[in-house]
Amino acid sequence: CGIVGYAGARPALGIVLDGLRRLEYRGYDSAGVAIVCDDVLLTEKKAGKLANLEKVLSERAAEDPTSCAASPIGIGDGTTGIGHTRWATHGGPTDRNAHPHLAPDGRVAVIHNGIIENFARLRAELEADGVQFTSDTDTECAAHLLSAALADLRAAGHPDGPQLLAAGMRVVCQRLEGAFTLLAVDAAVPGAVVGARRNSPLVVGRGDGENYLASDVAAFIEHTREAVELGQDQIVLITGDTIEITDFAGQPASGKDFHIDWDS
Ligand code: GLU
Repeated sequence: CGIVGYAGARPALGIVLDGLRRLEYRGYDSAGVAIVCDDVLLTEKKAGKLANLEKVLSERAAEDPTSCAASPIGIGDGTTGIGHTRWATHGGPTDRNAHPHLAPDGRVAVIHNGIIENFARLRAELEADGVQFTSDTDTECAAHLLSAALADLRAAGHPDGPQLLAAGMRVVCQRLEGAFTLLAVDAAVPGAVVGARRNSPLVVGRGDGENYLASDVAAFIEHTREAVELGQDQIVLITGDTIEITDFAGQPASGKDFHIDWDS
């Protein structure tokens, strides 16, 4: 339902949570975040209001003062992150069905708006390969597909780094049918967030040394008013300093630049 991503130099968690708060008006039944912190992926997700998520995040920080989770903002100082508010379509509004969804190694996290129409077929295929699912969502298959695509690309000699994440997302999107805005992070690729869209909105917010992704400009309007609307079937890769758009086949593409001039 609501999607936010951030790559830059500031701690991502507070920015992502603020962005989700600004998307609350759309309605939602659960919320979750994934932050890349010191090459570790920290995730938390909770059914109910954002306040429920914020409560577990601060309990976590209090419990483990030695880890990345010890910062005042609750889940570390990681400067790359994604967040989601869910409006359940496949699977009830429970903690386990909330996004992000992770690959089994806990290194890759995916959030999703929309409906993956061919998820049942993809899920059956993945399960036949021995993949164990931990939710009832249509989304989770995208996390497993991305993790497998990244492993295949690495095995084929693709170097680690932001381009790997974009290449992996392209492989996934070629398999998906339906409507989706997807964002993903990989703990092995700190500093980058990849997004993709088909039949569902995704906008980029262009900052100074930082960039944003969101389902709606309201999520980042307090930080920047320079935005790029992605076109159909496009992939966008952001780091703090770069925004790269391609189509699902990897050809360079461009979105539509615009300035947001309404009041927040
Ligand atoms: N279909 C996904 C789910 O049920 C995403 C729903 C949404 O757009 O929030 O989890």
